Amino acid sequence: MFNFDILNKQSGSRARTGIIYSSDRNVQTPELAIVATDAQLRSLPNDVLHELPSQYFIVNTYHTYTKQIIPKIEEQGGIHTYMGLKDRIIATDSGGFQVFSLGFGQKHNIGKIARERIDKKLFENKDQENPIQIAEEGVRFNFNGKELMLNPEISMDLQHKIGADIMMAFDECTSPLNSYEYTKNSMERTHRWLDRSIAAHRGFEEKQNLFGIVQGGEYQDLREESARVVGSKDVPGFAIGGSFGDFQEALGTTVGWVTSILPPEKPRHLLGIGKIRDIFAAVEQGVDLFDCVIPTREARHRMLYTKKGRLYLRKLKHLDESIDAHCKCEGCREGVTMRQLWEWFLAYDLRASTYTTLHNIQFYADLMREIRESIEMGKFDSLRNEYQTYY
Ligand SMILES: [Zn+2]
Repeated sequence: MFNFDILNKQSGSRARTGIIYSSDRNVQTPELAIVATDAQLRSLPNDVLHELPSQYFIVNTYHTYTKQIIPKIEEQGGIHTYMGLKDRIIATDSGGFQVFSLGFGQKHNIGKIARERIDKKLFENKDQENPIQIAEEGVRFNFNGKELMLNPEISMDLQHKIGADIMMAFDECTSPLNSYEYTKNSMERTHRWLDRSIAAHRGFEEKQNLFGIVQGGEYQDLREESARVVGSKDVPGFAIGGSFGDFQEALGTTVGWVTSILPPEKPRHLLGIGKIRDIFAAVEQGVDLFDCVIPTREARHRMLYTKKGRLYLRKLKHLDESIDAHCKCEGCREGVTMRQLWEWFLAYDLRASTYTTLHNIQFYADLMREIRESIEMGKFDSLRNEYQTYY
């Protein structure tokens, strides 16, 4: 059973709160998923994940597949048992993002959002320079000298074996450097792959919920066409993938082209986005779900999130105080000092990244709760202004 109830709407924007139900689990939205790349977090063992305040998790199909973790997940009866998260909603991605990040993105050293304006002329004729072979049938790539294949049928099969609540259709995530022609052809192929994903998912609809993915890059006509095509499919929810133009402010605009067309009664997941400014911009446009590696990865890089902005532990290592006196994470409650955290980092003591990871996860859980409460109270804009002083 899958259901999405919209609870509150913020007037003057598309921002909304809701609850997604899947079997006997639920997640209050908007919410950000913690990324468990290969069905685990690097700094926390799976048997403590249920203590985290996050309601939503996402697992990378590509990594669990290539690292041969899927048989272990199956042995334990599915991802909820494997991760010790029986009451949390878990999603899997399709592997499509890795097609991008290990192909074109790595070749051109670029992420989903370019942080400065790009002179596309410098990248003319770059569309073909993809070390990964993408064809109608699917995607071939090399892993440790072995040729592997991903396509809609294989991706659905792998995601069925993992057994998450939410699955993503197999897609290609295009780069901000791709041309209009490339992006258009890729988007049309992603639409055909969606039909194949839906066909391969038949018989599993009661157990798992397949989301279609909107692509189209930074191009308004393509984004709108993709939202119409994908939005017309009989699936329980949608995801928005791909790149979002050549400067950060474009994200809200691009997402708005899509959410103005997608059926409003179904949930939307914005893939791989989690910078605080981007979350506010996307929630304003009616996005319900996010996932991002920022909370966990930046914790390992000694970057701490607080209401007063991002703090770099190196600059605060002399302080005999916790990261944030008001934070409810384990380290802050126990009064673990920044001096102590720094010493642990220097000594390669795992407690350092464990405590910083717990802290950043708590920060993001609190942020998303505050966003939900602000929409309930009609105060979304003032919360956004508050955070934008520092982010
Ligand atoms: Zn904390």
